[in-house]
Amino acid sequence: MNRPQLIIATGNPHKVDEMRDQLSPWFDVVGLPTGYQSPIEDGNTFAANALIKAQTAALRLNCLCLADDSGICVDYLDGAPGIYSARYAGEQCDDEANNDRLLAELSQVRGDQRKAHFVCALSLAAPTGELASFEGIFEGKVGYERKGQGGFGYDPIFVLPDGRTSAQLSASEKRQLSHRGKALLRMTESLDKSDLYRLCIAASSDV
Ligand code: IMP
Repeated sequence: MNRPQLIIATGNPHKVDEMRDQLSPWFDVVGLPTGYQSPIEDGNTFAANALIKAQTAALRLNCLCLADDSGICVDYLDGAPGIYSARYAGEQCDDEANNDRLLAELSQVRGDQRKAHFVCALSLAAPTGELASFEGIFEGKVGYERKGQGGFGYDPIFVLPDGRTSAQLSASEKRQLSHRGKALLRMTESLDKSDLYRLCIAASSDV
């Protein structure tokens, strides 16, 4: 049987890479077509924004789509930057500027007050509507400086309990420990145990 096609509705190639391996036993995983205009993410939660991205892409592209909305929540900052993680240092900012701002905001803060967690909300949608959603969390602390060459975003300043940053993990370690890896595991368990995979196959043969 051919695997159904699944479009990962994100413009972030790192997210596609992190998701492809875990999902390839079930799906033919592809990225968004060139020129796709992402919708405005005006939800108040990670889950709401994931749903906006997945449903919009599924309708516009007439295909099964999976979207990820994720970010880092810092205890001392009452959960900020949260859903605004991608643009913490301004609308046109990049990962470097976001990390600089977070380190600057915490420059006077020590120890447990630097506790933080990543959240990943996944939404799986067919052109007819949402099929399922999943969430994963990754606990750690914000470090004092960048360490490691792997990953993306806040990985170089996100410190695990063992003292490494998530930019120092191998791809398979990050898959096992991270918010995205855990949300994907929940999704693949559901593909195995519920009738979700049957719904996915039906959705992709309808189009
Ligand atoms: P989104 O693309 O709107 O969901 O924004 C997610 C933002 O959160 C990214 O730009 C990253 O800065 C951050 N982020 C999400 N997941 C990760 C991760 O696995 N590592 C590091 N940063 C992440």
